[in-house]
Amino acid sequence: KENVCHNCQRTIAKRTESDIATNASPTKKAKMDLEEETKKFTMDPLREFRGKYLWVSDLTAQAWCERQLLYDFTGIEGKPVEILETEAMKVGTDMHLKRELEVHTIKQIAVKTKEDKWAIKFLNILSAVNQLLQGGGGGGGASRCVVREMPIFGKPFESGAFVVGVIDEIRYNSRGQLEVVEFKTRAKSRTVPSAAQRKTHKLQVMLYKQLFDEAVCGLLKKETILETIGLDPDASVNDEITAHALLMDLVLPKFGDYLNAMLERFQFLSKIDSLAVEYSSQDDKEPFAVHEHEFDPVWLKDTLDHYNAFWVGEREVEGVDVEEVWKCNFCNYKEACDWRQKMHEKCLSRKSANKVQI
Ligand code: SF4
Repeated sequence: KENVCHNCQRTIAKRTESDIATNASPTKKAKMDLEEETKKFTMDPLREFRGKYLWVSDLTAQAWCERQLLYDFTGIEGKPVEILETEAMKVGTDMHLKRELEVHTIKQIAVKTKEDKWAIKFLNILSAVNQLLQGGGGGGGASRCVVREMPIFGKPFESGAFVVGVIDEIRYNSRGQLEVVEFKTRAKSRTVPSAAQRKTHKLQVMLYKQLFDEAVCGLLKKETILETIGLDPDASVNDEITAHALLMDLVLPKFGDYLNAMLERFQFLSKIDSLAVEYSSQDDKEPFAVHEHEFDPVWLKDTLDHYNAFWVGEREVEGVDVEEVWKCNFCNYKEACDWRQKMHEKCLSRKSANKVQI
């Protein structure tokens, strides 16, 4: 499970043991000298900080400020900075869990291997896909059919990094087509967030649609998953997982059978038709605004290509644009940030260029 702030989408520092087993530690490079690290650009942030794949929350954090994301990994001058879970984050997480439990129950299963962990993801997808298929075809069934916390992953546009995420909700819209819904909670007011925050939400729902549609169209390849994560299709999974699969009428002897079943079943679904972000108040726990987003594959591809160039070390890390320096006032790294200093100097030179000498 991702440890993500549901308000700002930043990954919270603490991670589960299984994450650590299959992915790199975010504090691995804490002892490296920060200045050297950011100037040399010989590094490969994907491999150094995440290992094999990115989380969707890495990309939404990058959309807010890439420099901040890098500080989250490296800390300041070699010292890791702990990102504390605020009260608003806790309330947001509780509200998400409550909504999830409205549509299904959760059973804890101990995992020992990467294959166990991924087999559970595949079973959760199979369960969600089956529910969506039963609810399809319009009418009352469709209006009642809602799945929540569905895992999703893949290589968007078959290029760049492998990405893993969890879709808050998929349901049928008024046209009887599938709709992705992302929940966001607001702690301080019943107002929608700034345009900068809404851009990260737009990226998130578009990315979910791209990943989901690629799986539906058969573009999510078995080999890509096995090779990227380093999974063994012939491995066994633990008995508890096998028993759970049997409850779903699935006889799956090997790990590769879970993967095949998931990929085949996905292709019975139709593509996502609409994208929505629903904003709820943390005070009364009620939704107060829904924003719909048009899918824009060109914008999404260009954005992901630009972000990916950072992850593979092809370009320098970037901070906020000069128009968005206001973000720095809310940033833990504002005193140390080299990018902010650069922007500050740029602003000063602009002001002096505008001065009229009398
Ligand atoms: Fe980004 Fe500004 Fe924070 Fe630097 S101070 S990391 S530019 S938000």
